[in-house]
Amino acid sequence: MQGTIRRDPVSHRWIIFTPEKAQVIIRDSAEAEPLLPETPGSCPFCPGSEHATEKEIMRYNSFPHLNKGWSLRVFPARNPLLRIEEDPKPGGHGMYDTMQRLGAHEVVVETPRHGGSFDEMASEEIRDILRAWRDRSADLQGDRRFKYIMIFKNRGKEAGGTVNHHYSELVAFPFLPSFVEARFHHAAEYFSFRRRCVFCDILAQELEEKSRIVEENEEFVAFCPYAGRFPFEVWIVPKRHMLYFSETPHELLPSLSRIYRSVMSRIRIALGAPAYNLMVYNGPSNYDDFTKNPLQFFHWHIEIAPRIFGMSAIALGGGGYLNPTLPEEAAAFLRKAG
Ligand SMILES: [Zn+2]
Ligand SMILES: [Zn+2]
Repeated sequence: MQGTIRRDPVSHRWIIFTPEKAQVIIRDSAEAEPLLPETPGSCPFCPGSEHATEKEIMRYNSFPHLNKGWSLRVFPARNPLLRIEEDPKPGGHGMYDTMQRLGAHEVVVETPRHGGSFDEMASEEIRDILRAWRDRSADLQGDRRFKYIMIFKNRGKEAGGTVNHHYSELVAFPFLPSFVEARFHHAAEYFSFRRRCVFCDILAQELEEKSRIVEENEEFVAFCPYAGRFPFEVWIVPKRHMLYFSETPHELLPSLSRIYRSVMSRIRIALGAPAYNLMVYNGPSNYDDFTKNPLQFFHWHIEIAPRIFGMSAIALGGGGYLNPTLPEEAAAFLRKAG
């Protein structure tokens, strides 16, 4: 694989260089190809196209009476950002730091069915997606070379999705990506000052104020964050304090599956099936700066960002964001869409 990882000496950001993707139109995709036609026959994730993917890592066959052979599949991305076979040796180029593109990049095909909206899936199917995320991230976390496990989903062209088939992705990074590193530092700072997890405190305040809550069940809360970056951004946060998604006990998956499905249904009804990005924020893995510290300063959670407006250059370039919708109004709108 060509390419490398380089660190900018000023911002300290690690950047993955993927020259093989230069000819590709769509960024951030599992299958780096131009948008595929909508016909199920030509989709690489549909049953019958199993040979078109990389060698399978695992599959579930939870509903054998409904499906032929599988209900969910996981395999390495065909054009991965990072690869498990790479030599992790760090290097240098004069004053600059580099490393090889070591890591893992996996695709989860969430259902054998092509297209459709997410909330058409049964709660049991969604529970299986969560189980796959949990089990694959636990496995990747066991590899000491990986420092952060990212779970995400790009749905729709505006969000970087390539195929109209529900799929999500896992990436294991050999470094702490800058988009999470700053969060860890701030959360750790909050913890060392107040001796409490910032997310546990956020939940307490949101449940008291109620104005930004979209939905709540016995184990999870869905709300529009106080200073959300995107209009109608929704976070789903477990009430129990847990650092890693992989720590989620099996008995919590049904309630997570219910609230996740319901939030996606509200977003579809309220906003007309927009493209969206979903990200599971995890604690750092095998990262000495943070994990030597026994304090549980971070709290896994899901962030869902509908893509209903294009991002302007000023919003992106400034490192901050502009958001035309107040979270209190967004939450009220989503509550009504239930
Ligand atoms: Zn398909
Ligand atoms: Zn917490």
